[in-house]
Amino acid sequence: MSNKHFLMGNEAIAYGAIAAGLQFGAGYPGTPSTEVMETLIKNAKKYNYYVEWSTNEKVALETAIGASFSGASSIVTMKQVGLNVASDPLMSLTYLGIKGPLVLLVTDDPGPHSSQTEQDTRSFGLFSNIPVLDPSNSQEAYEMTKYAFEISKSYETPVILRTTTRVSHRCDDVVLEELKPSDENIEGFSKSSRWAIFPKLTAERHPILEKLQKTLSNEFSDSKFNFKTGTGKIGIITSGASYHYVNEAISNNKELFSVLKIGAPHPFPENKVIEFTNEVDLILVVEELDSYLEDQLLQLLGKHGILKPVYGKKNNIFPCCGEYSVDIVKIGINKVLDSLKIQKLEISEKLIDKTDIISLPVRPPNLCAGCMHRTVFYAFKEVSKELKKYNIQTIFSGDIGCYTLGNAPPLELIDTCLCMGAGISIAGGISRTTKNSKNVAFIGDSTFFHSGIPAVINAVYNNADVTIAVLDNRTTAMTGHQPHPGTGKTALGNPTKLIDIEGILKSCGVEFVKTVSADDFSACKEISKEAIEYNGPSAVVFRGNCVSIVKSDKKCVIDKNKCINCKICVEKLGCPAITMNDEIPEIMDNCTGCGLCKAVCPADAVIEVTKQ
Ligand code: SF4
Ligand code: SF4
Repeated sequence: MSNKHFLMGNEAIAYGAIAAGLQFGAGYPGTPSTEVMETLIKNAKKYNYYVEWSTNEKVALETAIGASFSGASSIVTMKQVGLNVASDPLMSLTYLGIKGPLVLLVTDDPGPHSSQTEQDTRSFGLFSNIPVLDPSNSQEAYEMTKYAFEISKSYETPVILRTTTRVSHRCDDVVLEELKPSDENIEGFSKSSRWAIFPKLTAERHPILEKLQKTLSNEFSDSKFNFKTGTGKIGIITSGASYHYVNEAISNNKELFSVLKIGAPHPFPENKVIEFTNEVDLILVVEELDSYLEDQLLQLLGKHGILKPVYGKKNNIFPCCGEYSVDIVKIGINKVLDSLKIQKLEISEKLIDKTDIISLPVRPPNLCAGCMHRTVFYAFKEVSKELKKYNIQTIFSGDIGCYTLGNAPPLELIDTCLCMGAGISIAGGISRTTKNSKNVAFIGDSTFFHSGIPAVINAVYNNADVTIAVLDNRTTAMTGHQPHPGTGKTALGNPTKLIDIEGILKSCGVEFVKTVSADDFSACKEISKEAIEYNGPSAVVFRGNCVSIVKSDKKCVIDKNKCINCKICVEKLGCPAITMNDEIPEIMDNCTGCGLCKAVCPADAVIEVTKQ
């Protein structure tokens, strides 16, 4: 097999971890990080290491910390918002340090494409005193992963490998070395006062941690991942995907520019940056998300009394948020060139003027045809209409997962959505403070295990008048169907104890706990009503299959002779399998026969048939 492989950035990271002698991996799925663990799972047997999906990112990190305390070479994977969940152990770990190398793969999401925040993990590195590496392509992702393990081992510190969506999900050639199964024995845990954090230990370790920042800043100044290209007098400091946008933007005017590419941004490679600033007349900083490099540069120039113009986000040369592109970078550079009376970079009219590009129809995100969540949402919507007649407002708090799409038209059901596990607690808060309201919290099965359980306990403890609707399709659907504790399967595909959601709800003290098949619209409606009318915490587990895993041999068709063209099926449900054809509703082949349109049709015009 050739050593050159066409790999996604996330796959390259997984192979980098294997090349570094990985022995333990843990993570929680989250776009755009998931493929790292998926690749590690696929290769676990071959390369002789252990991996697991954890219930959440905090647990994943803590488990990896345990493995590291035993001397195992470990990785933990998560998306940027997952790092918020894991921040508690991380902030303490930074003082303790580690034994076996420990790398945190954290993926940021400029845009954002699939996240609730545009936070920047480089700033988290600064906040927590943890070194950060920031690759810009798959080869670098592979090399930097190995380097992350090296520095983690040498300096006994956790290391963050931070990517963005474009780096994690780009595919390009990667030269891999020959990968071998991990043959190093894990030493195992040895008792030592080093691993139990106390204020005294923190006070002792803090100066060591601060000293390490200086040491690593020096090491990063000499790192091959922080390098300069070009000899022009206009300096550009950049990192990650922006490095490629910069290169493309200046490709016809290279002689004007020098570029410092920062792949190891924290601790800031001060010596390298000073050397660079001395060679240029002014500096542009091109980076997505936070103005991390710009802030560090400004502080450094101030510290050394260097007067050089700096152009970045702070003076509105480049946008402070959103994802960058070659065009955006060119526009920013041109603002500076214009002020210097230098000829501007050419911007193709076509790139700027998009009027001649055929506009594609907008496809807003939507639940799949036949998704069980649609049936449950519509059932609650109907119940809330009935309650409205009695002047009772039903407020729906959502959560993170496919079912966030309950906020999309025409359902438009979800009133709040914040972060993983927040729905139940938010509903509890609203129930105490909004008169004549009934509160429903939707939570998926994976999210229930992730961070829903403490909120259930809180609702019971404080007798919150909340209905907890668990949408259980037995998978972590949105990130690609990973198993979780309610599936009876581990990451490696081994059978394990299936943890029963109803059992947890009951043992947490919820007295009203019912289970209903999400395929049965009438039952969903009836039990939803019962649960809402119950005073105090109630819970309903709506159980069904994810239609993108379990394929049905049924579909529905409309009997045109019976259809009265009321359009309820088209306009109220938002099922992508129903369309209008010649002013009459028609069901298309992607129908899964879930029966929701059949259940709501007032003319009995929908018929279930077997697919041909
Ligand atoms: S049965 Fe109706 S609601 Fe269900 S997938 Fe088919 S068209 Fe959509
Ligand atoms: S709900 Fe029934 S009657 Fe109304 S448009 Fe759809 S198929 Fe026709």
